[in-house]
Amino acid sequence: MDISNLKKELEFQKIGRELHAFIGELYPLCRSITGNGLRRTLKVIQGHIPITLHEVPTGTQVFDWTVPKEWNIRDAYVKNDQGRRVIDFNASNLHVLNYSIPVQETITLEALKTHLYSLPEHPDWIPYRTSYYKENWGFCLSHNELLKLDEGEYEVCIDSSLQNGSMTLGELYLPGEMEDEVLLSCHTCHPSLCNDNLSGVAIAVFLAKYIHSVARRYSWRFLFIPGTIGSIAWLALNEERTEKIKHGLILACLGDSGEMTYKRSRRGNAEIDRIVEYVLRTSGNPYEIEDFSPYGYDERQFCSPGFNLPVGCLSRTPHGRFPEYHTSADNLEFIKASKLEDSFSKILSILSALESNRTYKNLNAKCEPQLGKRGLYRTTGGRVASPEDEMALLWILNFSDGQHSILDIAERSCLDFNLLKKSADILIEHGLLAEE
Ligand code: ZN
Repeated sequence: MDISNLKKELEFQKIGRELHAFIGELYPLCRSITGNGLRRTLKVIQGHIPITLHEVPTGTQVFDWTVPKEWNIRDAYVKNDQGRRVIDFNASNLHVLNYSIPVQETITLEALKTHLYSLPEHPDWIPYRTSYYKENWGFCLSHNELLKLDEGEYEVCIDSSLQNGSMTLGELYLPGEMEDEVLLSCHTCHPSLCNDNLSGVAIAVFLAKYIHSVARRYSWRFLFIPGTIGSIAWLALNEERTEKIKHGLILACLGDSGEMTYKRSRRGNAEIDRIVEYVLRTSGNPYEIEDFSPYGYDERQFCSPGFNLPVGCLSRTPHGRFPEYHTSADNLEFIKASKLEDSFSKILSILSALESNRTYKNLNAKCEPQLGKRGLYRTTGGRVASPEDEMALLWILNFSDGQHSILDIAERSCLDFNLLKKSADILIEHGLLAEE
């Protein structure tokens, strides 16, 4: 069985529900770009797929960047003068500015306020804020909670540590017939946020689980890495392998109710760009295609000019364009099992087309072969059921000159990719076609 057969075998509705449940399992963990929350997340993933964990030590130079100190947190709170926790890390890990240095002091409300972050325009939501590369501490809270704070003294405690340690990268390599690779990468550094990016993580895990179980033409590489510094470190440590990456996708924001959006690779017309566009165009659902820009997720690093890899970014509503982005409202209610299911199904179609997209040579190229005598023409009651099937055979035969892939022929003929692939398989059986 290969990836294209998975589409027929899988129960997508069930997978949508399983994806949502898996996200629910990862949701409470306080992740960051380093630390035990990130490790625990990768350990949970290891319960589903055999990823390898790489520890990159603090201080490792990766191109122009340095792997930072490792951050861990046990507890954090702000207590009022009656000893009540008015901000409590145990209620939501978003309450702490991610990467806060340890602090234990009693300060006035005025001094405390210089370390508080809220969203007046969405007064019930807690913002998500980080300070990875500048030592700082702070708390995030809903604006309504901020307004409730009375004048007076507050006890502030962040029981965290920022010490030499390491950054953990998760990786799964699935060898195929060829050394050429397909790369699927997602960021694993966000704490309790669902669309950005537990949706991408969960879908990557489930894709890996199924692709692991089938025959593969390409080799497949799955990366579960912290945003920015994770991809920079992976590229720095694996530079010689990058020439094998022939197609790649960054997976993020795949559970919201928006339509699919694809951001092309920097190359703009790579095979992955064309296949994603083809699959979305023929899906029957609205979609958006955007050109590459040097802002966004880890495609920024994979598509930096020194690498310029064919890696695009697939999402539903892109980062920053839904109000819930980087707030406590990007929660388990915001993402929908039906949308996770839809994203998973479309990505599987894309990956299946990647695996199936081949170029053939017509072995009977001087005039058309006589299809009727081989049972390949409808009038003879053979395997070909419709005029469309016949057209697919004719398109494959005519354009299989070693120059046109199935994708080229699908784009030009407006015939279905899978129908063309099936036609090519039939022609190979009859000795009329060979893989180039
Ligand atoms: Zn984000």
